[in-house]
Amino acid sequence: MTSLTSERFIAMFRTLAERIEQEKGYLCELDGHIGDADHGIAMAQGFAAVRAALDAADASAITPTEVFNTAAKSFLNAVGASSGPLYATAFMRTGTLLKGKAEAAAEDGPAVIEAMAKGIQERGKAEIGEKTMIDAWLPAAHAVAAAREAGKAPKDMLQAAADAAQAGADGTKDMVASKGRSSRLGERSLGHMDPGAVSAAMIVRIIAASLSD
Ligand code: ADP
Ligand code: MG
Ligand code: MG
Repeated sequence: MTSLTSERFIAMFRTLAERIEQEKGYLCELDGHIGDADHGIAMAQGFAAVRAALDAADASAITPTEVFNTAAKSFLNAVGASSGPLYATAFMRTGTLLKGKAEAAAEDGPAVIEAMAKGIQERGKAEIGEKTMIDAWLPAAHAVAAAREAGKAPKDMLQAAADAAQAGADGTKDMVASKGRSSRLGERSLGHMDPGAVSAAMIVRIIAASLSD
């Protein structure tokens, strides 16, 4: 089975930077409905900084843990919005998950989704139903656990995570925000998808595709 090398994780971050840059306008537009219209800029800036930091690193000399710790640090420094510390914590937790491994195994791919979800929840303390990125990340993590329990292969666990994150993001449309900036809108946040949940679904899908096979 193919292993998950530092090169694989760096390639994953490059794809994240490319794709989130393409979705920047859409994510800002979503944030414009219920927030301050900067979510796409924040996420694109964050991943661009991660890509630049990893481009400067020697891929053959750094461990997967160092890849994620570098990502955490550069994302945090580049992003002033609330998503900054949330994703920085997600990457830090993943760095801890992979500690001591020269390269990760295929089974670690789905565990990356779980570690990221855990980090975001620990940092932001949001629960399901509060109309945040947690409404995409937690279902993704739960889907991984359920698929593992059912004896599924890592790539099917990742696919289940991507589908659950998308369904979770879609579901935020019918929620009233109670965490973050959009909670100030109360009932007026109804009818709009949460931008952080939408970007989370994109991120989970990209991670799933990058870490499969
Ligand atoms: P800001 O609101 O500071 O402008 P962003 O626009 O980058 O930050 O991100 C907004 C997103 O952050 C929201 O759509 C929501 O998904 C997410 N968010 C806000 N607060 C929390 C929290 N406590 N836990 C999880 N996610 C949160
Ligand atoms: Mg915003
Ligand atoms: Mg902002």
